[in-house]
Amino acid sequence: NAKDAGGNQTSVYDVSYSTELEKRYEIERELREAINGEGLELYLQPQMSATGSLLGVEVLIRWFHPEKGMISPGDFIPVAEQTDLIVDLGKWIVRHALLEIKRLPAPLTLAINISPRQFRKYDFVYCIERALEDSGADASRLVLEVTENLFVDDTNDIVLKMKALQQSGVQFSIDDFGTGYSSLSYLRKLPLQELKIDQSFVQAIDNAEQRTIVDSVMAIAKNLGLRIVAEGVETEAQAHYLAGRDQDVVLQGYLFDKPLAIEAFHQRYLSDTKH
Ligand code: C2E
Ligand code: MG
Ligand code: MG
Ligand code: MG
Repeated sequence: NAKDAGGNQTSVYDVSYSTELEKRYEIERELREAINGEGLELYLQPQMSATGSLLGVEVLIRWFHPEKGMISPGDFIPVAEQTDLIVDLGKWIVRHALLEIKRLPAPLTLAINISPRQFRKYDFVYCIERALEDSGADASRLVLEVTENLFVDDTNDIVLKMKALQQSGVQFSIDDFGTGYSSLSYLRKLPLQELKIDQSFVQAIDNAEQRTIVDSVMAIAKNLGLRIVAEGVETEAQAHYLAGRDQDVVLQGYLFDKPLAIEAFHQRYLSDTKH
């Protein structure tokens, strides 16, 4: 390595190596290795009813790097999204996540985050349908989470794909709702089942003046006839407020649990269920 070479070489070497571009290439290369090898793991975070029963899970990817330890999706998903690497990663996630639907007792749902670049691929519908078939999972228990920026352009094609999947029973959710660009009249035209209130709005419940934001988002969802999931619920007070606004609200957050490794999730939530 550079240090062994000694002298001034060290700094030259380090400077070039520490560029953002080099770091990105390294992540890309190692992530590709992980997809084809090991290190990727699905974690599951419970989604609860206001009365405390388990309704479903959201799948959240974790990457355990042999030297760097756990790398959070916030650090590698955006890198993967800059190339088609997100497509291969997305396929890996879909294939493995669908196997988990069968291990969850019905009617629990399983939600997967889908990147816009993955969704826009010409064979996205085929990939999901194929994975449903291969896994034998019930399509109506699958929820695909997309973000508002999926609808910024190319919208006709996106809506057609959503409708095709919806025909098979797949549900759609808008993640981080309220943080992106989307017109309300447009939302009405989308085949959606669910809105996820962004955690920043849930946190804002603690502030009496900002509380009206969450009220407005809930009103929109109700108006559109959609299920509401509040993400990032951390306190009893937040849960209580949300449930008081809508008894059908679905709650997700550290108040109940952080995302758990699959076996830990099963042990904690489903240990009396035979698989
Ligand atoms: P997201 O889909 O909006 O997921 C919610 C994030 O909030 C997760 O972070 C989750 O661990 C975290 N969270 C849950 N409850 C709480 C809480 O009570 N308080 C706080 N402060 N945070 C909470 P995570 O797992 O680090 O994922 C971050 C983002 O990375 C996700 O946001 C999603 O956009 C992306 N991501 C994660 N897994 C996947 C995946 O499998 N595929 C794709 N395409 N994106 C993923
Ligand atoms: Mg999500
Ligand atoms: Mg979110
Ligand atoms: Mg997000």
